[in-house]
Amino acid sequence: MSDVLGALDALGSTDPGLLQLPGLVASLARVQAAATGHYLRRLGELDASGEFEVEGAATTAAWVRRETGKSEREARDDVRLARRLRQLPVVQAASIAGDLPPQTVELVARVAMLLPEELRAATEPALVDAARLMTYEQLRRFLSEKVASLAPDQLKDAIETAYERRRLYLDPLGDMGEVRGSLEPLVAEQLDVVLNALMESDRRADETRTIAQRRADALRLMVEMVCELPEMPQVREALPQLIVVSEEGKPAHTTGGNVLSEGQLDLVRCASDVTTVVVSPGRRPLDVGRSARSVGRRVWLAIVVRDEGHCQVAGCSAPASRCVPHHIVPWRLGGGTDLDNLVLLCVAHHHALHDREINLILYDGRTLTPTGGLPVGAGPPPRRSRHLQVA
Ligand SMILES: [Zn+2]
Ligand SMILES: [Zn+2]
Repeated sequence: MSDVLGALDALGSTDPGLLQLPGLVASLARVQAAATGHYLRRLGELDASGEFEVEGAATTAAWVRRETGKSEREARDDVRLARRLRQLPVVQAASIAGDLPPQTVELVARVAMLLPEELRAATEPALVDAARLMTYEQLRRFLSEKVASLAPDQLKDAIETAYERRRLYLDPLGDMGEVRGSLEPLVAEQLDVVLNALMESDRRADETRTIAQRRADALRLMVEMVCELPEMPQVREALPQLIVVSEEGKPAHTTGGNVLSEGQLDLVRCASDVTTVVVSPGRRPLDVGRSARSVGRRVWLAIVVRDEGHCQVAGCSAPASRCVPHHIVPWRLGGGTDLDNLVLLCVAHHHALHDREINLILYDGRTLTPTGGLPVGAGPPPRRSRHLQVA
């Protein structure tokens, strides 16, 4: 074992030069695959021998966790795969030779075990051959088709199992709202398609968001769109709304218990519509009538026409359908719902201004701050100097 580690050490300390680098990286991936193959084979042997009990661990997975520092799930997955590979000699051999990346070994082994035992040995070589030739995605499709034709009941079982295992957990309170769970593969794929379309429609010229951040923004967009659907079910004779309680001298909070900053309160007041409603402690709605649909149709049309149908942040062309009428001077500071105090902002820029207090430069040269608008050429107020750079 020290020879192996020594050889790896030697590789790591020599300077391969740029020309040799691609070959070296490819070789290391193969070494990694082969090492995983050997690890799984020996783990399978250890598991079959029951040796781990001697070492004071209740299960093989517990032993793996303790000895390798892997997570519970990783350890369990390793043991399950090692057990499968003991029944799949051809896949095991390819894995040890480093012919297949670990992820592919896992896929082939999992699918091969779905086949009826009498077909398994005869089919194994063909599965491994396919795995050598295909990309992971091609292989996955090929294997699904194989299972569907050779073991149709298994496919039905897999669908049934996925249905039983569907879960969605949502925790809206805390530093971050947490979403996690498992969806049936088709549902997950459909969600992926929808989110990708929304991400594409919300692409920015100066894109600095990560893919994961853009996906989160797409989900927010989806929620806002769904809330506007006429089919949206009513609960206790009202549309499902985020209810914000605002009381003089106290921080505003949602009925769920999330506290809002002043900027966030301005935000929901500007955009207050079907998704959000602001009420006083007596539940008297304060801001009903300030949304895009209810600043009054005439005022809304006037803003859209004046602002040429798109977000007014310099460089942004998000259409009016994706915009809200922002109150330049917020309501709490005396700003009114008249044309001069309103400007079209897309949802993304609107959130940037209120949530993160980022000053925005408009097409007409004014600088928009969270508390008002500065005339052309005037600098941002000294306290806040961050600008959202728009190409
Ligand atoms: Zn606003
Ligand atoms: Zn915008």
